[in-house]
Amino acid sequence: MNHIAQNINELRLHIPSHVKIIAVSKTKTVPEIREAIKAGQVGFGENKVQELTAKYAQIPEAQWYLIGHLQTNKVKYIAPFVRMIQSVDSFRILEEIDRQANRYSRVIDCLLQIHIAREETKFGFSEEEAIELLNNDELQSLKHVRICGLMGVATFTDDMEVVRKEFQGLSRFFQRIRRDYFPADPSFCELSMGMSDDYRIAVEEGATMVRIGSLIFGARLYGTTTRNS
Ligand SMILES: *Cc1c(COP(=O)(O)O)cnc(C)c1O
Repeated sequence: MNHIAQNINELRLHIPSHVKIIAVSKTKTVPEIREAIKAGQVGFGENKVQELTAKYAQIPEAQWYLIGHLQTNKVKYIAPFVRMIQSVDSFRILEEIDRQANRYSRVIDCLLQIHIAREETKFGFSEEEAIELLNNDELQSLKHVRICGLMGVATFTDDMEVVRKEFQGLSRFFQRIRRDYFPADPSFCELSMGMSDDYRIAVEEGATMVRIGSLIFGARLYGTTTRNS
């Protein structure tokens, strides 16, 4: 636990100050999260609604990001407090976020998750599907969500050239969407890509947010692949 602050300080040396670090705290305990907060960490990411809600209840002063797939029936639990939902992957979920945000008189910041990896198991829009959503006239009627950018998860591979190509592709798509759909909207400005193993490449390719778990908190103790969980 003592290493957490050290890890964060070390990480900051490698990440330019304009890039926001989201500390991915899934499976990690409240004392570990508090340790990160003491080191100045503000934003935390969780991939499960139940865990996010439980941790928010104990640490409401942190900023809480959802980075995992969201089911429509669970939006209501996070709508009162979530700082940003990075994993929007359908129009239907965006409509529900809008509906719940309205109930709390909020506007919820969202990123569209784009499927860039080779694995089919990962969630997210294809580029065509994202464009279809942005062309949907009904989008204008959603006053309680703000689309702030894009998020992507690269293929789980040691081949860093594959990862770089995927980040480059996402970065290009981000520029294009900003130019074509948000030319006068400064809030469309976030490109969330990069994790512990590939954040340096992501930053080189234009990430404005990186989502770092194991490099800050140490390895997670469950399961087979940590990337998909
Ligand atoms: C778990 C997770 C991360 C962080 O992974 P690390 O390899 O531990 O840095 C980032 N993004 C998403 C979507 C995740 O599920």
